[in-house]
Amino acid sequence: MGNARFCVQCGKELVMREHEGRQYPSCADAACGFIFWDNPLPVVAALIEHEGAVVLARNAAWPEKVFGLITGFLEKGEGPDDAVVREVREELGLHAQIQGLIGVYPFREKNQVIIAYHLTAGGAITMSPEIVEVRHVPAHRLKPWSFGTGFAVRDWLERRG
Ligand SMILES: [Zn+2]
Repeated sequence: MGNARFCVQCGKELVMREHEGRQYPSCADAACGFIFWDNPLPVVAALIEHEGAVVLARNAAWPEKVFGLITGFLEKGEGPDDAVVREVREELGLHAQIQGLIGVYPFREKNQVIIAYHLTAGGAITMSPEIVEVRHVPAHRLKPWSFGTGFAVRDWLERRG
């Protein structure tokens, strides 16, 4: 998306034009007027407490040993709290309850804004094909990472004391 070359409205070429002091890919056809703003996309993230530990998951697309929170995009018309509960159900087969919002974090490298929630869940995990492995990490052994959802983990641990 960051390097789109053609207008999604009319198919003509995109050229760089200034809008309010910044350069944006804009449709070469002024009559069309399309501007590719490339706004950050919201992503929901779930810090799930399950069986006395925090659930970290490894996505099939990630390198080995990389584990993270469950994340996902919102569906059209969906609110972030419904989206995070749905993602946990789809990815892990768990019916989770939201305990609170941890925070909202810019993830500039991916042009996203992470909306992170703390949830609790019971029952057995059934992984979706997207998830290849899950780990239960007790909170006292959880080490926040310094990108993406790691800041939400840091804040949750700090507040927990
Ligand atoms: Zn156009």
